[in-house]
Amino acid sequence: MHVDSWLLRAAARRPSAEALAGVSYAALAERVDDAARRLAGHGIGPGDRVAIELPPGEAFVVVLHALLRRGAVAVPIDPRAPEADRAARRAIAAWTVDDASLLAELAPDHGADLPATHDLDAPAIVVHTSGTSGAAKPIPLTYGNWLWSALGSAAALGCPPGERWLCALPLHHVGGLSVLLRSAIAGTTAVVHERWETERVVAGLTGAPDPETGRAQAPATMISVVPTTLRRLLDAGLRGGGGGARALRFALLGGAPIPPGLLADCAEAGLAVAPTYGMTEACSQIATRGTPLFCTTVATADDGELLVRGPTVSRAAVREDGWLATGDLGRLDARGHLEVTGRKADTIITGGENVLPLEVERALEALPGVAEAGVFARPDDRWGERVCAQVVARPGATLDAGALREAVARRLARHQVPREIELVPALPRTTSGKLLRRALR
Ligand code: ATP
Ligand code: MG
Repeated sequence: MHVDSWLLRAAARRPSAEALAGVSYAALAERVDDAARRLAGHGIGPGDRVAIELPPGEAFVVVLHALLRRGAVAVPIDPRAPEADRAARRAIAAWTVDDASLLAELAPDHGADLPATHDLDAPAIVVHTSGTSGAAKPIPLTYGNWLWSALGSAAALGCPPGERWLCALPLHHVGGLSVLLRSAIAGTTAVVHERWETERVVAGLTGAPDPETGRAQAPATMISVVPTTLRRLLDAGLRGGGGGARALRFALLGGAPIPPGLLADCAEAGLAVAPTYGMTEACSQIATRGTPLFCTTVATADDGELLVRGPTVSRAAVREDGWLATGDLGRLDARGHLEVTGRKADTIITGGENVLPLEVERALEALPGVAEAGVFARPDDRWGERVCAQVVARPGATLDAGALREAVARRLARHQVPREIELVPALPRTTSGKLLRRALR
């Protein structure tokens, strides 16, 4: 099945609406067509994979849409990743755009075919997973995957015509990319920041002039955040409503387990948060505000692993029986409300008992003076594995490992209580705020 090109459609229907801050859909479509003709002139054809190794910003967006206009497949790569990682990811592409001025030097092919429709079954973007459990995996996501994801998001969160979605996330992961795609599909505005700068994000949410460009701006109606960046907004004193994030409908919060204390602090500050559970293989959101997207089915396997099925899921990632095995553990209650309890591979087996590190971390984080905790296993001659924890104190708090152990033992079953607790200044985390549990050992 084919649908109208998202960009052409937005440019025809809402030419003067902003696609990006300060860039109308009409202007973007013109630049994209020019870039698509230059890509064609360079020999890029439908189905060809082209890596985009550019920082988040206008040039990235132009190249991305230009590849889609040409029917080519985009492979976004983090320009700040180590050379070896970038080389490995580029290997799956025929060509790399790593310099924004490169395109202007290519001679345009004015006769090139730029299809006016998207084939929903064709791959649009190959997105890499975060590489939390090992090497990052390339996941091909089709036009259909992106469309259903945008529809599911709109059904879960609404999508008013004046939507301005602030994205200060990397654009080589699914969370950031999905902001671009759903904005183009709806003809609404994506406000892209090159990197997270709290002061600039606060200006984007309150509608103060952009400190980077000096431009006046309307306040954002949505923002995508991970737990660590949302915490920074709270620390900066951001509040919801008048004087604060006055137009914000929701902060879409995901990418990593969500500490309950963070949600409580946001409620206190009047910031509306929509927690989401998602992954690359499912084209971002799977369940938002606890409920699976309208087109998505979630089930649990006998061992508690979450299984996902539906039109957002990459066909390349599903098993023969049609389900995506997520590698995550969780529970669905009678009303279909989903709770994610951790990654299957992180489960600690001590003396034959299973321990979910996330549950132990939550218990430690509920103790006074504890900012955050990371729980992991060390090999143990007697028990197979023993539960160990690293704990970070809140600023100004002094903690004692022995006292912590006693206090947490009152909240946990015996086998869950950490045998070793180490006080550390910080925990290793990925840019999406995921704990790098491998690095704790
Ligand atoms: P890799 O697959 O390479 O190991 P990754 O799984 O971290 O990396 P992503 O696809 O970016 O790569 O992240 C998806 C994972 O993030 C989920 O499988 C889940 O483990 C975790 N996650 C996302 N949202 C949540 C959430 N709300 N609560 C708990 N975990 C979450
Ligand atoms: Mg994964």
